[in-house]
Amino acid sequence: DIEIPESHPRYQSLLTRHRIEEGVEKGITSRQGLIAQGRGEAFDYLLGERTIPSADEAARAAAAHLLLADHPVISVNGNVAALCPGEIVELAAAVDADIEVNLFNRTDERMRAIVDHLRDHGADEVKGLTADGRIPGIDHERAKVDADGIGSADVVVVPLEDGDRAEALGAMDKVEIVVDLNPMSRSAQVATVPIVDNIVRAVPNITAHARDLRDAGATREELETIVVEFDADAALDAAERAIRAGTDDE
Ligand code: ATP
Ligand code: MG
Repeated sequence: DIEIPESHPRYQSLLTRHRIEEGVEKGITSRQGLIAQGRGEAFDYLLGERTIPSADEAARAAAAHLLLADHPVISVNGNVAALCPGEIVELAAAVDADIEVNLFNRTDERMRAIVDHLRDHGADEVKGLTADGRIPGIDHERAKVDADGIGSADVVVVPLEDGDRAEALGAMDKVEIVVDLNPMSRSAQVATVPIVDNIVRAVPNITAHARDLRDAGATREELETIVVEFDADAALDAAERAIRAGTDDE
């Protein structure tokens, strides 16, 4: 085990990286997951490793969508499971969503390891093992979902989803909430609500917004207004500007 002094200027980033390493050792995260992490770190560095205002607004719009949903589902892959399992369980509880494991490189072993890991962090039911549904338009292995999970969800949270699947899910008429640090990635581009932020910040932030909205007694009309007023293209533009400008723009 490594010890990272809390005074280190990039403490959070190093801690996050270490969690991914541990995820690989435990058989939760794939080796491709390490590469995705590296990409994410680069974008997070450019964003100043903070939640920019447009990402905070996106998290609030995501919370409104989730509170309005009939059947919201949060999709979990190997990186998400390694980085923020407890936070995913809390978000699911706050908005009454299902949790479903959904892997790009699906193996039975990794599916089970992630389900167990989420259970260790307080989840009771975790979907994904039944795999009796399909996302139309993508190849067999990557199309697998649970029919009573993502298959029949009206709102899906897909942190770190790959571009193809994000596109195919969008074509199924689902509200798609994507968390992705790269505003130019196809996943972010096709999302109903793109949250350009690190999942370790974005997931607890959606939960906090959901709790605030609920505690304030927000009506369906008020939630619908938040949803309608959110502008995905403007959010992506703001994120790209923040990256290009450094920290002084947003
Ligand atoms: P495409 O254009 O097809 O969407 P891609 O850039 O998404 O391609 P991947 O290698 O799957 O290709 O990228 C993983 C994505 O996940 C990257 O955009 C990266 O910025 C993002 N990412 C990685 N770690 C995190 C994290 N902790 N929080 C948020 N986003 C992350
Ligand atoms: Mg992507």
